[in-house]
Amino acid sequence: MKDIVIFGAPGAGKGTQSDFIVERYGLTHVSTGDLLRKEIADQTELGKRIKSIMDAGQLVSDDIVSEMMDAAIAADNKGMLFDGFPRTVAQAETLDKLLAKHGRTVTCMVQLEVPREELIRRLLERAKIQGRADDNEETIANRLAEYGNKTLPVAQYYARQGKQKIIDGTGTIEAIAARIQEAIGA
Ligand code: AMP
Repeated sequence: MKDIVIFGAPGAGKGTQSDFIVERYGLTHVSTGDLLRKEIADQTELGKRIKSIMDAGQLVSDDIVSEMMDAAIAADNKGMLFDGFPRTVAQAETLDKLLAKHGRTVTCMVQLEVPREELIRRLLERAKIQGRADDNEETIANRLAEYGNKTLPVAQYYARQGKQKIIDGTGTIEAIAARIQEAIGA
């Protein structure tokens, strides 16, 4: 069973490449961003609490996402692709503990590398197409800052464990998918 983390800045193509990875390896896709957006759309108590944080491009608390992941992992028996999680070193430590409860471990972390100008170009493009509330110029700057300050150290966490696979995230979707498959292996 594989449990894979897909990692990268906002706009690096995690969502797009996730579709390919879950299909290729038969995994359950879990995106914390999607789960959180659903809470907002459903106007749950949690959704009301996190809306302004997400709209500002800041990270919601580790406790909230960790609880969601605990439930998602407990419900899964196929292996998972973690998309948008972990975003802090504390979350990475939590993920290790949650998987260990089920005798599982992170197989590898796939890190998509894309230059900053290209990230901004893609996020502004997505803003036009999908109309996501947090895809606007000011919020994008906040999200990239959160990524640099809080999320990038997660890359070192996996590098130290020998699980980091750095992938060039530029080029066609197919070319990137092929690089990922080569890195993950059979
Ligand atoms: P995403 O769809 O992954 O770009 O996430 C959109 C927003 O959801 C982020 O800007 C954060 O506000 C929030 N979010 C998603 N995943 C996490 C996480 N693992 N930890 C904290 N906040 C998150």
